[in-house]
Amino acid sequence: MPQPKALVWFRNDLRVSDNPALSAAVASGLPLLCLYILDEGGPDRRAPGDASCWRLDRALAALEGELAQRGATLFFLRGSAETLLPRVAEAAGASQIFWSRRYGGAEIALDTRLKQALRDQGRAVHSFNAALLAEPWEVTSRAGGGFKLFTPFWRALRERIAFTPRAPAPERLSGASWPEAAPPPLGRAALSLAPIRPNWAAGFPGPEAGESGAQTRLRNFLDSTLDGYGTNRDRLDLEATSRLSAHLHFGEISPRQIVAAMAEPTQGADKFLSELGWREFSHHLLYARPDLAWRNVDARFDAFPYARDDEALDAWKGGRTGYPVVDAAMRELWTTGHMHNRARMVVASFLTKHLLIDWREGEQWFWDTLADADEANNAASWQWVAGCGADAAPYFRIFNPVLQGEKFDPDGAYVRRFCPELSVLPAGFIHKPWAAPEAVRAAAGVRLGETYPHPIVDHDFARRRALDAFRALAA
Ligand code: FAD
Repeated sequence: MPQPKALVWFRNDLRVSDNPALSAAVASGLPLLCLYILDEGGPDRRAPGDASCWRLDRALAALEGELAQRGATLFFLRGSAETLLPRVAEAAGASQIFWSRRYGGAEIALDTRLKQALRDQGRAVHSFNAALLAEPWEVTSRAGGGFKLFTPFWRALRERIAFTPRAPAPERLSGASWPEAAPPPLGRAALSLAPIRPNWAAGFPGPEAGESGAQTRLRNFLDSTLDGYGTNRDRLDLEATSRLSAHLHFGEISPRQIVAAMAEPTQGADKFLSELGWREFSHHLLYARPDLAWRNVDARFDAFPYARDDEALDAWKGGRTGYPVVDAAMRELWTTGHMHNRARMVVASFLTKHLLIDWREGEQWFWDTLADADEANNAASWQWVAGCGADAAPYFRIFNPVLQGEKFDPDGAYVRRFCPELSVLPAGFIHKPWAAPEAVRAAAGVRLGETYPHPIVDHDFARRRALDAFRALAA
C-alpha cells in the first residue's frame, strides 16, 4: 500500500498564495502530489485557442517554479481528466483530492462525475472557490433566483465584499514523488502549448506571467494608475487599465487578493471595482446559461437576419476594413494577443452592426486569438455588444468608428502604432484618411485602395441598415 497522499489538481487557480485548495491540502498534513492535466476538451467542451495556450504555458512555467522553490513538483499529463485523475489517485493512494471550482456547464458536469467516481473509490474530494468574489449561488435576487441586470447584481455583491487580507503562500511544501504505477508524467515542453516554428507569439508581451508578475502589476497599477482609471480607462493611446485579465483568467491572482490590496476603496477606485463586478456578473450568467457562448440570451435574436459575408469577415479579422481604429484594434489583437476594452467594444459593434455578421463569429475569433480568452467574459461581452445579451447595450447604440477614434485616440497614437502605413497622416485625418485632401494623403504616402483600403462599408448606410434590421426584430 502506498503512503496516503493529498492530490492537488490545479486548473484555473495557478498560484500558491490565497489558493484555498492548496491551503487545505497542506493542512491535511499529507505529502502533496501536485498535478496539471492538459485536457483539450471533447465533444461537449471547446479546446482553448492558440493564444490562450501560449499564455497557459507561461502560467504553468511560473507555477512550476513557485512550487519547486517550496519543495513540491508540478507534474503534467495530457488527455482526458476523467480517465487520468482516478488512475493517478489510485496509483498514488491519494486519500484526499483538492481542487478549485469552475463555472462552465461542461466543466461542472465533468467535475460532478469525477467527484462521484473518486468518492466511489473511497476518496475524500474537497472543492473550493478560488476564482470569484462570490459564487453564483451566493448572490441571488430577493426571489431567490439569479440576476438578469448588472446594477442590482452589483449592489447585492458590493455589500458582501470583504476587504480582508488573504492567505499568504505556504513557505514549505512536502512534495510527493510520482507514483510508479501511474501513467508517466510529461515535461511541460511536451505539452506543446507554445508555438515554435513559426513562433507567431514572438511579439506578444512577455516578462511577467505568473503570480509574482500579477502581484507586481497590481501594485504598480494601484500606486500609479488607479487614481486616473475612471477618467482614462477608455483611452486607447494610454496604459490606463490594470492589464490583469489574463492573470485573473488563469488564477495567477484572485479577485479577493485584488480587493484586499485596495483596502476600503476610494471614490475613484469604485469604477475599477465595478469592472471586477462585470467579471463576476459574466460568471454568474455563464453558470445560469451554460450555452452563453453559442445561444442568444434574448431569443428574439434567433430570427435576426445575420449576413453571411466571408470577405467582410476576413477583412475584419485581418484589420483591413478601411476604418483605422477598427484595423488598429484587430492588428493589436493579432500581434500582441491583447486588445483594449474600448477597442473590443468598437470592433464588436462594427462586426455585428456595420457588417451584420453573427456575434458568434467574432466570439470565436477572440477565443482563438486573445491571451485572456475567457468563456464567461468573452461570451457575455459579445452578447452585450450585439444587443442580444443580459442587460445588453441598446440596439440603437451603433458606434461611429471615426468618432470613437477621435475621442479615445485623439492624436492617433494607437492607430499610428498598429497601422504604420498611416503613421504620417496628420491627426485631423488619421481616423478618416478618405477625407484628407489628395495632396495630404500623397505627402503621407497613403494611396487608398493600394497602401490602405477604402472603407468596406459606408458608415451612414450601415447605421441605417442596422437600425432597420433591429427595428424589424423589435416590432
Ligand atoms: P481593467 O479595465 O483593468 O479591468 C479589471 C478587470 O475587470 C479585468 O482584468 C477583467 O477581469 C475585468 N473586466 C473588465 N471589463 C470587463 C467586462 N466588460 N466584462 C467582464 N470582465 C471585465 N475579458 C476577458 O477577461 N476575457 C475575454 O475573453 C474578454 N472578451 C471580451 C470581448 C468583448 C467583445 C468585450 C467588449 C470585452 C471582453 N472582455 C474580456 C472584457 C474586457 O475587455 C477585458 O477584461 C479588459 O479589456 C482586460 O483589460 P484589463 O485587465 O486592463 O481591464
